[in-house]
Formats: sequence, C-alpha cells, structure tokens
Amino acid sequence: MSKRIAIFGSTGSIGTQALQVIAANPDKFSAEVLTAHTNEELLIKQALQFNPNVVVIVDETKYAKVKEALAATDVKVFAGQKALDEVAAMDCYDLMLAAIVGYAGLRPTLTALEFSKPVAIANKEILVVAGDIVMQKAMEKRVPLIPVDSEHSAIFQCLVGEGRNKIEKIILTASGGPFLGKKPNFLVNVKRDHALQHPNWSMGAKISIDSATLMNKGLEMIEAKWLFNLQPDQIQVMVHPQSIIHSMVQFEDGSIKAQMGLPDMKLPIQYAMAFPNRIPNKFPRWDFRRPATLTFEEPDVKTFRNLSLAITALHKGGNMPCVLNAANEIAVFAFLRNRIGFLDMTEMVERTMDKIPFIAHPTLEEYYETDGEARNFAASLIQM
Ligand code: NAD
Ligand code: MG
Repeated sequence: MSKRIAIFGSTGSIGTQALQVIAANPDKFSAEVLTAHTNEELLIKQALQFNPNVVVIVDETKYAKVKEALAATDVKVFAGQKALDEVAAMDCYDLMLAAIVGYAGLRPTLTALEFSKPVAIANKEILVVAGDIVMQKAMEKRVPLIPVDSEHSAIFQCLVGEGRNKIEKIILTASGGPFLGKKPNFLVNVKRDHALQHPNWSMGAKISIDSATLMNKGLEMIEAKWLFNLQPDQIQVMVHPQSIIHSMVQFEDGSIKAQMGLPDMKLPIQYAMAFPNRIPNKFPRWDFRRPATLTFEEPDVKTFRNLSLAITALHKGGNMPCVLNAANEIAVFAFLRNRIGFLDMTEMVERTMDKIPFIAHPTLEEYYETDGEARNFAASLIQM
C-alpha cells in the first residue's frame, strides 16, 4: 500500500522536491494534503497534477480562486491559518512532511503528533522554538520524528543499527555559505541578491540568508540537541565547503561514521519518506575517482557572530532559542526587504536576546508569548 503524505508547505523548495520524489514513485507514495501560504498558482497546479484529498491556502483572499480552479475535481479546499491545524488532525494521511518555514509550522506539527502521525521534519525552527515540547509529544505518542535537514538525516542514518550505543559527539558539517573567508568590512556591504546565492544548495529565501550568516548552523546545533538528546558540548561544527560529508557521529570507542553523497535535498527527503527502507533512484552519484579534495576548517565565529549567538542560546536553553529564532525571523524578513543591512541582523538578534526576560522551563503558552514579545521588540528596532 502506498504511503499517504501530507506536505505542509508544498509550494516551497522542500515541498516541491518532495513532490518530485512522489511523482517518481507513484507506487510508494501519494500526496494527500498540500498546503501553501500565498502561492495559489502553484498550489492549483500541484493539486491538478497530484489530485490530493485536501489543499489549504493560508491566505484567505485567494480561497475563491483556488476553489474555482479545482471546482471540477473532488479536492477539498480550505483556507486560513487555522485550517492548517484542522487538516493536520484529519485521518486522510500517514506521514506529515513538515516543510513550512519558521514558527508558523509549530501548531500543525504538534497537532499531527497529538493525533499519532509520524512526522518527517524539515522545519528546523520549530525544534529551535520548542524542541522539548515537540520531542516530548512524539515520545508520549510513540511516533517517529524523522529528520529531513541533510545534516540531521546524515546523523540519523549513522545511528541506524546502533541500538543503545552512546554518542560521544556529533560533527555537523557546514558549507560555510557564500561568504566563507570574508570579513566584516566585506559583509557590511552585502546585499540581498548576493546573499541569496548559495554555492551548493538551492533553497528557500529564509534558509539561504541563514546559511549566509551561519545562523542556519546555529539553528541546526539546537535542532540536533533535541533530535538526538545531546549536551551542547557534544555538538561540534566543522566547515566543509564541498558538502559531500553531510555530518558525522563519533561513538564512545572513537569510531566515526559519516554519511556522504552529492548535495541534493531529494535524498534526505526520500529517505525520510521511505524510512526504514531505501528506495532506488537515478540521482547523480558522488564518484571517488574524480579528482577532489575534501577540506575541513573551524567556523569563524568572530566574523559570523550569529553562530556564536546561537551557541549562547543553545547553552542557556529555556526560552532563549525561541527568542533567538523570533528575532532572527524578523531580521531576515527585514533584510530580504532591504530594510536593514547584513550585519544589522546580528545586532537585532543580540539586542532582542538581551531584552526579553529569561524563562528556564517555559510552557507551550510561554513559548508563544516569548515568540510574540521577541518579534515585537525586534520589529521596533527597525524604525530606528
Ligand atoms: P520555502 O520558503 O521555499 O517554502 C516554505 C513553505 O512554507 C512554502 O510552501 C510556503 O507556502 C509555506 N509557508 C511560509 N510561510 C508560511 C506561513 N506563515 N504559514 C503557512 N505556510 C507558510 O522554504 P524551504 O527552503 O522549503 O524550507 C522549509 C523548511 O525546511 C525550513 O524550515 C528550512 O529551514 C528547512 N530546510 C530547507 C532546506 C532546503 O534545501 N530548502 C534544507 C534543510 C532544511
Ligand atoms: Mg541543513
């Protein structure tokens, strides 16, 4: 029987690649739920091609257009932010692919877990914001939470078959982004379009900017802490510009396992959807006969201060990662609209972390409040 996939965020970079995997494996997967924020054109196109049970267009002003375009089909059409939650609670799917970007993905993902649905999780921000609550919910409902982020997929794959063997540490690899080796006097002048060009991956706008500032790697350290139950000092970041080793696990006997391959997000997406199986594909292969050097260096946290802010939040815990994430979402949004400069993003995150009251053990409600307060404060810095 084919696995019925609910793609939350189907119009994004991860979502569209997941649909490519589904299209290539029609006997194994079907797309039963598709959701989009504002891109109704693409959502309609996807719905006509994949004939899902339900689609959600979050932007309610687009509802009539989607409804009309799908009138001749039996696809159910819902609209609005709340509909995401309602659809997450539906019975019509077997696996949620959490591919919404940012905090907005938190509620529907928690709902899916509440209804005992396995979740393939691309949306790292929700683990940064409320990782303890997300992991606890998955544990309580005994449902798997399968990483999609390439580094975390790599670690997950290295851990298959290891049973209770302890992790000594993990080595998260980082490409270094488009500005590897650059200094603040260069970064201060960086513009949006330049920052959006990633050397190895083609991704959504937000994660592309996060990769350029190295905030992405900081978010991934926090993501790894929750997914693999690690202490902060068990998480090491190494810059590996070729992006062939996707991350590594070092065990207690000193043995290190790495997961490798050409950088292509379809691989971890497909792995998460098919887990525990591997399925064949025709993607290009990494070839050791080709002349190539794999290099490793320490990240420059003095220049890319977003990474050190994330490390601070990782060590502090409580609501600090939630504050970091909220301020960063506002900062990236402002940078993408040319409202602030590249280095202002760091300043905004740092000031917000200094401002918002620390809570050591927040409830879900307190995470929601923290997120709102941090967003408001960060936004108030833009006007100045
Ligand atoms: P994207 O911007 O390309 O797509 C985001 C998707 O989320 C779209 O379908 C959009 O409609 C939806 N969305 C955006 N805001 C929303 C809102 N407020 N409410 C509901 N839906 C909303 O992003 P992406 O690059 O596909 O990334 C998605 C997630 O996966 C992110 O958390 C990112 O960090 C993670 N991720 C992405 C990649 C990648 O290669 N793109 C790699 C690893 C992890
Ligand atoms: Mg990643």
